Amino acid sequence: MKARITEHRLILAHPFGLSTGTSHERRSFSIEVRDREGTVGRGEATPLHYMGETPETLRGELDRVAAFLASRKDAVENALGEAAGAPVDRSASPLAALDAHIAAALPGSAAARCALSTALHDLLACRLSLSLRDLLGVSGAPAPASFTVALDDVEAMVERAREAVAAGFCVLKVKLGRGDGASDLKIVKAIRSVHSGRLLVDANGGWSVASARELATRLADLGVEAIEQPLPRGERAGMAEVARQSPLPILADEDSLDLADLDHLPAEVGGINVKLMKCGGIVPALAMIRWARARGRRVMLGCMVQSSLGITAAAHLAPLVDLADLDGAALLANDPFEGMRFEKGRIVLPGGPGVGAVPRSP
Ligand SMILES: [Mg+2]
Repeated sequence: MKARITEHRLILAHPFGLSTGTSHERRSFSIEVRDREGTVGRGEATPLHYMGETPETLRGELDRVAAFLASRKDAVENALGEAAGAPVDRSASPLAALDAHIAAALPGSAAARCALSTALHDLLACRLSLSLRDLLGVSGAPAPASFTVALDDVEAMVERAREAVAAGFCVLKVKLGRGDGASDLKIVKAIRSVHSGRLLVDANGGWSVASARELATRLADLGVEAIEQPLPRGERAGMAEVARQSPLPILADEDSLDLADLDHLPAEVGGINVKLMKCGGIVPALAMIRWARARGRRVMLGCMVQSSLGITAAAHLAPLVDLADLDGAALLANDPFEGMRFEKGRIVLPGGPGVGAVPRSP
C-alpha cells in the first residue's frame, strides 16, 4: 500500500468573499493510494482555515498519513480484503472498523483523515466494480443543489445570482456577515430582484446576537428559508437564544464540525451542515447524518472550495440529505479533476466504479 501526495493550486473564477475575508486562490492536496494489485483510490484534503490549519500544517499531516500506510500496509490490505467480502450494509460503511482504527492512530487533522478515508473507499469500490454510493448502499436521487453567491459588491453578487439562475439552480445560498445589518439586507433585497425561489443565507459567524435577532425577522419577510451559522463558533448560548427567537430555522456549520460537536449543539438549532472535510470523511459524515435524522434536524451536505475529487465523493451521499451545497469545484477556473457535474442545476453523478473523479487531462 503506497501513497502519493500532490499539491494543487486552485484558482477561483471570481473572488470568493466570506465574512472572514476574500480569497482569489486556495491550495488543496490529493492523495493517491495504490494496493498490491495496482488498484488506485484517491481522496482530497483542503485546510480548515477557521481551525487554524494551513497548507503547510496539512502537508505535514498528510505525510504522517503516508507514513501510517507504509507502516501498516499489511493490516490495511487485510481490512480491505475483509470489507470486500462483506455484504452491503445500508446502515454503515464496510470500512467503518478500519476508519475507527485510522481515527485513533491519526487524531490530528480531520482533512487529512478525510483524504485517506475517501481514497480507501474509492479503492475498495473500484476493486468491487461498484460506485461509491452502491458500496455504501445509498440509493435515490441526489437532494436539490444550491449555488453559493460569495460576498462582493452588490452588483457583482446580483450578477453571480443571475448566472446561477440562468444555469438552472433553483436554490441559492448567499454569503453575508461582513458589514452591518443594513448592507446584508441590501444584498438580499437586490438578489431577490433576480431570484424569487429558494434562498438561504450564511453569515459564517459574522453577526452578534442582537443583529442576528433583528436580521432574522427582516430576512423572513424577504422569503429567506434558513440562516446558517449566524454567530462565531462556540457561542452556543447565543445560538440557542437566536434560534429560539428567530422565525427562521438556524443551521450550524462552524459549530457542527464533527460528531463530538453535535453533543453540544443547542436543541433549538434546526439543522447541521455536514462536510466530509470537517468531520474526517465518509464514515463520520454518515454518522452525523444519522444523528440529525434521528432528531428531526435538517441536513445540508456542504463542501470547501475544493476540486471535483472531494466534491464528487460527497455527492455520492447527496440522496441522504435535504440540500446539497456542493458547488466548491464549480467556483474554480482550473479544476484539476472531473467527476460530478451540474446539469440544469441538478447533480449528475459520474458512471463507473468508485468515486468516479479522474484527473483532468492537461
Ligand atoms: Mg457555511
